[in-house]
Parts: sequence; C-alpha cells; structure tokens
Amino acid sequence: MVFDRVGSPLRAATIPVPRPGAGQILVRVQSCGVCRTDLHLLDGEVDVPAPPRVLGHQIVGTVADRGEGVRDPVVGEGRRVGVPWLGRTDGSCRFCLSGRENLCPQARFTGRDIDGGYAEYAVADERFCFPLPEGYPDLQVAPLLCAGLIGYRCLRMCGDAERLGLYGFGASAHIIAQVARWQGRRVFAFTRDGDTAGQEFARELSVVWAGDSSQLPPEPLDAAIIFAPVGGLVPAALRALDRGGVVVCGGIHMSPIPSFDYELLWEERRVCSVANLTRSDGHEFLELAPKVPVKTHITGYALEDANQALDDLRAGRFRGAAVLTI
Ligand SMILES: [Zn+2]
Ligand SMILES: [Zn+2]
Repeated sequence: MVFDRVGSPLRAATIPVPRPGAGQILVRVQSCGVCRTDLHLLDGEVDVPAPPRVLGHQIVGTVADRGEGVRDPVVGEGRRVGVPWLGRTDGSCRFCLSGRENLCPQARFTGRDIDGGYAEYAVADERFCFPLPEGYPDLQVAPLLCAGLIGYRCLRMCGDAERLGLYGFGASAHIIAQVARWQGRRVFAFTRDGDTAGQEFARELSVVWAGDSSQLPPEPLDAAIIFAPVGGLVPAALRALDRGGVVVCGGIHMSPIPSFDYELLWEERRVCSVANLTRSDGHEFLELAPKVPVKTHITGYALEDANQALDDLRAGRFRGAAVLTI
C-alpha cells in the first residue's frame, strides 16, 4: 500500500521485492501496526521527503534473507524481528554519542524515509531491529513497537509521578496505563468529551478515574502525558497539575497550543515533548512488557484495507490499536 501524495488514499500496488544491501535484512512482514503518525504523513502535517513511499513503522516479520556482512544470530534467517520507527542514524553526531540517538539530525525513519511495513516485504538495517518477546502473537506484539515504545519513553519523562494523567486513550495510553499501574502509579484517563465508550475501556484497564478532557480530575496530578494531537490539551493538562508537575507531549505533531497565563506554569510546572526512540528504549520496554504483562487490544485489518484502518483511527472507531495482517 503506497503513499503517493498528501490528501490521496494509499494505493494498492505491485512493486518488486526489495533486496537487502550490506548490513541489511529482508523481512517477510507478518503484521504491521497502524500509528497516528501515519495520519500526519497522509495529511502533510509531517513531511514524506521522497514519495512514493510504503508507510508503516511497527513491523513484525521473519528474516527471509540477509545482506552482506550480517552475522548477528538475533537476525538469523527465520527469526522473528520487530522493525521500529528509528530506521538508522549516523552514529557519530553529538546526540548519537551522548545516548540521544533519537535526536540525531541524520536519522532516517521507517515508513517515512525508508519503505515500511504496509507491504509483504521490507528491508531494514540489522542494527535497528529488535528481538520480540515470545509470548506475544504477531498481531498483539506489533503495537508495542511504537505505541508502546514511545509511550514508555513518555512515561520515563514523568519520573516517579504517582498520580498520572493520560490525555487521549488510544493505542499508547492503553499500553502505558498497564505499565504505570504495575509500577504502582495511579492513572487518570481523559478522553474526547462525551466518549463514554473510551472511558469505559479505560476503567476496564483499572484506571482510578476516567472522564472528559475538559474536566478536572478529582485530585491534582503529578504528571500528564498528552497522546492526542490537540494543542488545547496543553493548558488543560497544566491546569490539572500539582506544583512541580510535568506535561509530556508524546505525539510527532500537535495543533497550535493556545496562549495561557503564566500562572499555569508557575510553581515549577514543566512542559516537554518526546521525540522518536532510542534502541535502548526498545530493548528495555520489550523486556518489561511480558513482565507486566502488557495485554494489547487490537483490531485486525487486511493489508488492502489499510485505508479503512486509517479512517477508523481518525474517527476513533476501535479500542486500542489497529494492526494490518499481511
Ligand atoms: Zn508511531
Ligand atoms: Zn547522530
């Protein structure tokens, strides 16, 4: 399923099976998670530099072939691997050399700069693939690769916050709510106003409170993560924070943030964003997920129904995460 240009749906196409170059593997894709970032790419809110491009950056598949020089048994032929958003970095800039490869200016991203997993086959740099926890079927493990991983990086930015708000209860939040609860935090879930089904879903995952984003929680929060791409949630979340609290923006794009009184930021409240992932985030989270254990709620779609999956994501028509089965 190929992205051609902003504003037009993905197109079913037959393209040659890619060949792995030196240091790369060819992955036979089994499933690929659908992410809100894909909507931002479709809508032009995040640029696709050189279309046509195959989207999809939560790839689960088996190694079908290996390029020159690939010897790591983790990516041995027939092994199951996950391919995430971070597709490659230069490994030499000040960010890469200080444990912040997520900020590498030369980074290339799967399903944006490199063809991704909305396809039967994908090629990936062996160094950026992850082994996957065995207990998870292909469909259930896919959302861990971005929704889970980026959510986990956001959660780490919250430090030891005990009262945690999650704004937007979709793929990331439903995973991170489980991790946060396991860590002994109390989770407060915020959905679009009037989304009682979303609030009910959050309660089933044992959050202590679920309500509308425009509401204040019953007690102030130590941290809030905003997963929804809605700038108006920044002042709303600040308003819900206790002194010294932090608002973490987890998405790659957000509508403009309305101005707000300094009073909302005063008393050492903070606002920050999370960008991309590092490989150590991936290894850490994929080891942690089966210990919780995180259970992902997924809705499966056939590859050729990718546009339907994206429409349903936009409209909030399913619980949890959408995953293409290939
Ligand atoms: Zn993503
Ligand atoms: Zn770098």
